[in-house]
Amino acid sequence: MDVRSIREELLKSFENVRTLEELEALRVRFLGKKGVIQQGFKKLKELPPEEKKAMGKLLNDLRKEVEERLASVRERLLEEERKQQVERERIDVTMPGTELAWGSTHILRKAKEELQYIARKLGFTIVDGPEVEDDFHNFEALNFPPYHPSRDMQDTLFLPGGLLLRTHTSAVQIRALQRKKPPVRIFTVGRVYRREEVTARKFLAFHQAEGLWIDKKVSIGHLKGVLAEFIKGFFGPGYKLRFRPSYFPFVEPGMEVDVECVFCGGKGCKVCQYSGWLEILGAGMVHPNVLRAVGYDPEEYTGFAFGMGVDRMVMLKYGINDIRLLFDGNQKFLRSV
Ligand SMILES: [Zn+2]
Repeated sequence: MDVRSIREELLKSFENVRTLEELEALRVRFLGKKGVIQQGFKKLKELPPEEKKAMGKLLNDLRKEVEERLASVRERLLEEERKQQVERERIDVTMPGTELAWGSTHILRKAKEELQYIARKLGFTIVDGPEVEDDFHNFEALNFPPYHPSRDMQDTLFLPGGLLLRTHTSAVQIRALQRKKPPVRIFTVGRVYRREEVTARKFLAFHQAEGLWIDKKVSIGHLKGVLAEFIKGFFGPGYKLRFRPSYFPFVEPGMEVDVECVFCGGKGCKVCQYSGWLEILGAGMVHPNVLRAVGYDPEEYTGFAFGMGVDRMVMLKYGINDIRLLFDGNQKFLRSV
């Protein structure tokens, strides 16, 4: 048996070891029970006695060398693996982090809260009502005659069982008046529905804010003061109001209230169609028939009501030109306002 050539083969093999698996295979090949060195020991007894001792020593030395070599290569491989692992798991602390997507209040809700805040400051109580209404609360008690066009199928979304989706927040007034005794000073903001063809300016649903103040000796002067406070609170100070006569069944006299254009300050621009005014509000003194419908004496009590288009106010305030953006939850849009 040529121990020297075995040793040379061994040294060459170690040079090519790249992994711990390869190293283990080498260990089995040389040191295993059926390995080269063990085979050498088995063959010792076939040798003449004078050679036996020398060969035994050679084999023992070789085994020792192999063991040492195995240990040092294993150490080298483990070290390489640790280095690779560190490289793989290296964290660059100067890299920018992942931005968290914070939620925020929708601008419609923000507007609702702002308007409610102004109302509370003026002494109004915030009330709410159902979006599914009946004919009495949505039309009849509000002095809508039976053949008023808004009771038509073309304007209102009717539900089975004589119910409908409320077409204005005025229905909330009636419910509140039925519950309360005068004086009454209430404010409501909510979603209302109309049967509309959806366009950039019209949607099937929109939001109204509505106030009602009933007491002895309430006058149009009070109404003007309250509306001025709302416009100042929502858009900022300095905007003039303009009152124009108009008709709503539940008020007498009724009026539309224009606000000086918040974009051009009344000079005239594309948004106000060069009129210098924006139509935002409807208002009026509560019709005696409405007071009678809820059991108030119109000889004793007077009051005013006003309604605002919240979506339009939000669109003006934030410079939005399509009402559908307020409803479709588009993240890109919501983050931009
Ligand atoms: Zn303008």
